[in-house]
Amino acid sequence: MLPVLKSPSRADLARQCVKCGLCLPHCPTYALAGMEAESPRGRIMQMADLAENPGQAGVFKHLDACLGCRRCESVCPADVSYEQLLVETRVVHPPALTWREKAALWLMAHKSLLNGGLGFYRTAYPILPTRWRPLPRPPAASADPAPARSRNAIFTGCVANSYEHHARTALLQLLQTLGDDAAIPSTPGCCGQAARHAGQTARAASLAATNQSAFSSFDRVLVLASGCRSALQDSAGVPVVDAMTYLAERAEKLQFRSAHGRHVALHTPCTASFHGPGNAVHALLSRIPDLRITVLPDTGCCGGAGLHQLADPDRAASLRAPVLAAIPETADVLLSANIGCRLHLAGKLPVQHPIEFMANYLL
Ligand code: SF4
Ligand code: SF4
Repeated sequence: MLPVLKSPSRADLARQCVKCGLCLPHCPTYALAGMEAESPRGRIMQMADLAENPGQAGVFKHLDACLGCRRCESVCPADVSYEQLLVETRVVHPPALTWREKAALWLMAHKSLLNGGLGFYRTAYPILPTRWRPLPRPPAASADPAPARSRNAIFTGCVANSYEHHARTALLQLLQTLGDDAAIPSTPGCCGQAARHAGQTARAASLAATNQSAFSSFDRVLVLASGCRSALQDSAGVPVVDAMTYLAERAEKLQFRSAHGRHVALHTPCTASFHGPGNAVHALLSRIPDLRITVLPDTGCCGGAGLHQLADPDRAASLRAPVLAAIPETADVLLSANIGCRLHLAGKLPVQHPIEFMANYLL
């Protein structure tokens, strides 16, 4: 008989930490607050205490303040499974959510209502007071010009479904140039990452089941948003491929016209730098002749971090400030591969997905 493999307990996960502190300089909340309690090591100690002394109740504000960006995990020499520990702790001790976060999580699980709400938001946007405009105005809805059948599927996501029409059209255009294509099934829902990070694992599992069934007839799923990719790859049931990596691996067939010295600022989301293909974006953009690319310095999480911009707008703005300050004066567009980051960084100058920008220069 095969032995039953038990997943490690929360206490076991916390014990992986050797308290070396190497993660501290990489943690954006520690950089802001300068307190051990706002560091990965401090949070792991608190989660160990909660695991070993069950029954504690209350609000755990330093745990709730964790962005879930996993920067600590990516530099940890002891391979602490920080995210797993965080999610499992939040299942038992759910974070105190604002009404905006609760509403967003509910809407993200009900895609048609979310799309309808964003359509209404687009219509009302010009007359809304500034405080009622937490997100940029969505573009006008249009049908995605995708074939009905293909071996590839493009993941549309929840909020991205309304905001990424142009990026999806651009991806289809680039695929067509490669002699390839992709279908856009309408049934998948949210990737579930925001629900997981809120400790709502039952809701995340239900979204994962919906996505698995929607993608079962495809060979692979192409994902535009680096933030959704990591959640989806654990649940889609078929290979999940970052769209830019897919294009970069076939880039010799893509020819671009000159950008005539145009200057772009390239933001690298946490989910692309540590957990994904940050270099693929730069490699693809570098194929556009006479394009000036300034890769923004790594100043930490931009503050988008899932629903953080709804949870704590002031802190999200503090985290965003150094990113915006690093944009050169001569750049006329900001490129970022993650929908959450783009929504949070919009305002100072136009923000686009790198694939949407590239398609403008396709020969
Ligand atoms: S989480 Fe990793 S890097 Fe951070 S203190 Fe613990 S062992 Fe060190
Ligand atoms: S996930 Fe991000 S915010 Fe949370 S402890 Fe790790 S580095 Fe800090």
